This record gives sequence, structure tokens and C-alpha cells, in this order.
Amino acid sequence: MANSLDRMADFDLTPEQREVRRVVREFAEKEILPYVEKYEAEERYPVELIAKLPDMGLLGPMIPEEYGGSFSDVVTYGIICEEIARVDWVVASVISVANSLCAGSLLDFGTKAQKDKFLPGITQGDIICSACLTEPGGGTDLGNMQTTATKVDGGWLINGTKVFISHAAHAGLFFLVASVDREKKHKGVTAFVFDPREVEKGLSIGKFPMRTLKRDNLAEVHFEDAFIPDEALLGKPGGGFPILGGALDTGRFSVAARCVGQAQRCLDLALPYAMEREAFGQKLGNFQMTQQKVSDMVCRTQQARGLVYQLGRMKDSGVKRASMESSMAKLCSSQAAVQNALDGMQIFGGYSCSEEYEIGRLLLEAKSLEFGEGTSELHNRLIAEFALGIRQQ
Ligand SMILES: Cc1cc2nc3c(=O)[nH]c(=O)nc-3n(C[C@H](O)[C@H](O)[C@H](O)COP(=O)(O)OP(=O)(O)OC[C@H]3O[C@@H](n4cnc5c(N)ncnc54)[C@H](O)[C@@H]3O)c2cc1C
Repeated sequence: MANSLDRMADFDLTPEQREVRRVVREFAEKEILPYVEKYEAEERYPVELIAKLPDMGLLGPMIPEEYGGSFSDVVTYGIICEEIARVDWVVASVISVANSLCAGSLLDFGTKAQKDKFLPGITQGDIICSACLTEPGGGTDLGNMQTTATKVDGGWLINGTKVFISHAAHAGLFFLVASVDREKKHKGVTAFVFDPREVEKGLSIGKFPMRTLKRDNLAEVHFEDAFIPDEALLGKPGGGFPILGGALDTGRFSVAARCVGQAQRCLDLALPYAMEREAFGQKLGNFQMTQQKVSDMVCRTQQARGLVYQLGRMKDSGVKRASMESSMAKLCSSQAAVQNALDGMQIFGGYSCSEEYEIGRLLLEAKSLEFGEGTSELHNRLIAEFALGIRQQ
């Protein structure tokens, strides 16, 4: 059964990409999976698990070799995100925030000094990255950003609050967006990269209480006249939106790949359970209504994977921005991850709510991926606008 699923997933991968999947899957199952529930129960950020990544080259799959990275191609990056997310949301998030949002922006828009300062440290595991975009007033309408950056001698003063910030308390790099002129809306949005540990005053990182992902230690980040130097500016003042666009384009690819991993995990858990558990003297898997769920889960996962790999191949062929395709992959795969978690839970029955089983935890984790890097509503709107010709790629 598993072989038929793997055959389709791997069908048009190169031998190298298949080997990456095999090696990363083995690593993830042995070195990460057995410890995830423990970190979640202890509400502890998994620094020790993250520390295992550099030796495997897993912290820089989009970073070129000259900076210590292991970049080979975008599809391979997707496979890595998928396989790590299959076992843990948080460790996969470390990889995708660092490579898509942060390193991607640095590679495209950073100065040599900024690249030299941050990229090698990211690949070696010395620098965890955090992206500070969302604000209490809303994460979808980023053009209406309230956080401000005011020019002063030698740098910028940042004021405002960011919420839901993953990895913030452990970060050695903040990718921050703030407005230099709020009246200009999205044309005032400006990007910065800096080490939060070097900010002397005015920056505080508080806990952001969550019902899920307690091991992520999501944070609320406050800036009150926090000074960051001129060298922190990424690109030009007011040039943050195009940087964000590029970052989110790749970000949505990696989040979509993570969703495929989560959707697959629901299958991995539900299939053996359906063939073990009995009711009315039969295995659950023999009931047609269970089979309907299994069939839907298999098709959804493979449809999402197909969109993700196709997007990766477009990027590998040199298409720099694939906004519509990124939205399609992100929308379909996040909804597949949520629906697979729901169907998987139904197969587990009441035990899906027991701490003994993983499947129930996956539901809120999958749902959170439907919000991050653009909600379903935003992607529905973008896809429709591209299709209708209201918006151009
Ligand atoms: C686990 C987790 C980790 C996260 N990590 C990070 C992080 O590291 N960094 C970061 O910056 N953010 C992070 N986020 C925040 C995430 O990006 C936001 O939740 C997301 O962008 C949506 O913003 P919001 O929650 O403020 O919702 P809102 O923007 O308030 O939207 C609320 C609802 O209204 C809908 N809506 C909004 N506008 C429209 C419209 N025009 N038409 C129709 N519907 C609309 C939205 O789709 C949504 O369903 C994280 C979130 C979670 C749950």
C-alpha cells in the first residue's frame, strides 16, 4: 500500500531527488519524530533538534555553496520541507523561514556585507531566523502596516508591535517590515534585516499565548524607539513590498510543501489504524465509508504534491515570480492538510482526541498553515484576479 503511494510521489523525481527524500525521511523519523511530543508537552523550543540539522545540510537548502549552503534545486528544497514537516511543524518552519523569507530576500536584495554577516551563520545553525510581519491590527492587509521606521542619524528608530512571531526569542536574524511613510500605504513599507541581540534598547520579546504549537514559543515583539543601524536597511526605503512579494512567493512554495508533508502524515497514521482497529467484527478499512475517506485523503495529498512539484520545476526552469501558481499550491495543499487531519481524526474516532495519538495535534497545526503566508481567502482572491486578468504576474 505504502509502495503505491511512494511510487506516484517519486515518479518524476531525479535519482538525486529520490535519494534526498530517502535520506531526509530516515533522518527525520529517527532524529526528530520520537521527540516532538515531549517538546510539545514540555512547551519547550526544540533547540536540540534544530542543532542536528546543519550536519545534514538541512539549514541551507536554498543557500548557495559559497555561503556554506547546500542548494541544488528548488524541487529538492520542497522535498526537504515536505519530509521534515511530515514529522514536525516547528523544525520545518525553522528551515522555511530561514531559506524562503530571510535568505531568499538577502540573496536577491542584500548587500555583500549583509550576505556575509548572516548567510554562513544560518547554514551552520548559529543564526535562527524570524520574520516579523504580522501586527495586532491584522496580518492580511500588510499595506496598512502600523509599525514605523523613522530616519535618524546613522540609522532608524522602530516603533510598533508584531504578533505571532515564530522563533523570535531564539533568533539571530530579524526580517522586519515597517513603514517609513504610512500615508503611502504599501509604497511606504520597508524591509530591514538585523540581529535582534545587537539592539541595545527598545526591543522586547514577550510570550504570545497559543492553543497549539506551544513548542514554537510564538512571540509578541515590541519596538519602542528601538535603534537599528543604516546597515540593517534591505533594499531601498519604501521598497519593501517587492522584497516581500519575492520572499512570499518562495515562502508559499515551502509552506505548501510543508502542508503536503502534514497531509501525508495524516495518511501514514490513518492507514495502519484503519487496518488494525475493528468494529462489528471487521477492520475499519473494510467499511466503504472509511474507504471513501482514505481515497479522498490519497487524492488530495497527491494533487497538492503535484502542484508543489510543478511550481518547483517552474522555479528551477528560471521563472522568478510565479505568484498565481504559488497561491494555487499554498491554497490547495493547506486545505488538503486540514481536511486530511479531519478525515484522519474521524478514522481514529474518540482516540483522535487522546494524547496517546498524534493525529489530533495535527489539526490545529495544519489549520495554522492555512493562515500563514496568506490566508485561503487571500489566495482565492489572488488566483481569481490573475485568472480574470485583473492582476498580472
Ligand atoms: C502558528 C502560526 C505561526 C505564525 N508565524 C508567523 C511569523 O513567524 N511571522 C509573522 O509575521 N506572522 C506569523 N503568523 C501570522 C499569520 O501570518 C497571520 O495569522 C496571517 O497573516 C493572517 O493574519 P491575521 O491572523 O491577522 O488575520 P486577519 O488579517 O485579521 O484576517 C482574519 C480573517 O479575515 C479574512 N480576510 C481578511 N481580509 C479579507 C478580504 N479582503 N476578503 C475576504 N476575507 C478577508 C482572512 O482571510 C482571515 O480569514 C503566524 C500565525 C500562526 C497561526
